[in-house]
Amino acid sequence: MRVHTSEYLENLKSLNLDRKAARKLGFPLSNQLVERELRIAQGTIDGCVKAFKHGVAMNIAGGTHHAYTDHGEAFCLLNDQAIAARYLQHHQLAEKILIVDLDVHQGNGTAEIFRNDDSVFTFSMHGASNYPFKKEISDLDIALPDGADDDTYLNELKNTLPDLIAQEKPDFIFYLCGVDVLATDKLGRLGMSLDGCKRRDAYALSAFAKAKSPKNNRIPVQCSMGGGYSPEIKLIIEAHANTFRVARDIFI
Ligand SMILES: [Zn+2]
Repeated sequence: MRVHTSEYLENLKSLNLDRKAARKLGFPLSNQLVERELRIAQGTIDGCVKAFKHGVAMNIAGGTHHAYTDHGEAFCLLNDQAIAARYLQHHQLAEKILIVDLDVHQGNGTAEIFRNDDSVFTFSMHGASNYPFKKEISDLDIALPDGADDDTYLNELKNTLPDLIAQEKPDFIFYLCGVDVLATDKLGRLGMSLDGCKRRDAYALSAFAKAKSPKNNRIPVQCSMGGGYSPEIKLIIEAHANTFRVARDIFI
């Protein structure tokens, strides 16, 4: 309730969303679906707590960045990283938070939730012509053209991420590492290779691992999975597994 309105949550939990709001979700509304979203959000909160101990934590679900304050859309009911960010702030575990959203779809819900909040910086790099067609304004948006390849993507990231961390001085980082940036993705419109996606994760996670918080500590990182819609499921799993492999190599 620090993120979503009580009216929306009540309607969601009692399965009383009106037809239009329910249709926006993209999934049939059921108790199991609501339970699933609650577990995803709790997983991200638990991950944050573990990230303080281990440096990094990975949720094998989550990245539900299309959930707004008062409604859900596009397979996202509750915004897991926004909920966890508010949890950290409420419990005084973090003050300044950076959300790095590299899913191919813009983090529209996250941008709306933190629109007037300087304590959470929202960065989204996404496909310009991908859903959502009406984009919200994040603190920083980079919209890439259709077919953007590994070099284009990685150059943008290298030109942005280290400066952003240095400038914003977060004491906690959320990473939304969707693999729908792959050229093979059915929904994404970018042109990255499997190796390019792995190099993206390696670059981002190394930049996070190298950075220091304002108190000169390492900055804990929580990763949520985000999207992946390549027709070959093996490829999606390989790309997600690469994020874990890279995190293990960097943080352990
Ligand atoms: Zn996505």
